[in-house]
Amino acid sequence: MQYLKLKVMPEGPSIIILKEAVQPFIGKKIIEVSGNSKSDLQKLKGQVIIDFKTWGKQFLICFKTFSIRIHLLMFGSYTINESKDAKPRIALKFKKGELNFYTCSVKMIEENLDEIYDWSCDVMNPSWSPEKAEKKLKEKEGLLVSDALLDQNIFSGVGNIIKNEVLFRVKIHSESEVDKIPVKQLRLLIKEAVTYSFEFLQWKKDFVLKKHWLAYNKKNCPRDNIPLIKKNLGKTQRRSFYCDKCQKIYV
Ligand SMILES: [Zn+2]
Repeated sequence: MQYLKLKVMPEGPSIIILKEAVQPFIGKKIIEVSGNSKSDLQKLKGQVIIDFKTWGKQFLICFKTFSIRIHLLMFGSYTINESKDAKPRIALKFKKGELNFYTCSVKMIEENLDEIYDWSCDVMNPSWSPEKAEKKLKEKEGLLVSDALLDQNIFSGVGNIIKNEVLFRVKIHSESEVDKIPVKQLRLLIKEAVTYSFEFLQWKKDFVLKKHWLAYNKKNCPRDNIPLIKKNLGKTQRRSFYCDKCQKIYV
């Protein structure tokens, strides 16, 4: 089977790719487990994987009575049916094949997932609710739109690449305050966050994601051919790329 490794901080679509890649392990029993996670990993031995789920950037391995949450954080990676020269946080061995996760956070979840995850705020989930997102955004007085897009309780799955590309596409300045954005533009922003996430997924699968970047990591605005501003903005202090000329500021 395949070998996959992530090189940049994973965003929602990359976790969907992981979920698709591990489908053959559904219904398979874990015969050996190891890793340097502090969680009680031995609990997994003998367990059968019943499903994989994602909530934004979180990857969930589901068993009959509990689940494991894996978050790849900034530099996490995984390998399927291969290992690499690093200590895995969690390594699962099956009769046929193996699954390894590195530099990630691992957490046991005993609760029912529907009780702790609001699937309607995951931009790639079928139960995504744009209305809920709109309502939450209107309540965030003075919040920078570049912080709002990274808020996983509003746009679960959106990361820094998606943030920059979406704002550029809908021509909203990264330093805009989210409650000052007119409702028409706000709805456009919410819609584009979903559209771009699915395009990201397809481009990533086709290995052409970078080719489609218009603002992220770019020097010049492709619309105006003037330098883009590069700044760490807001509470999150994540890198923002934006054009002062074609992206309108709402404050
Ligand atoms: Zn421009």
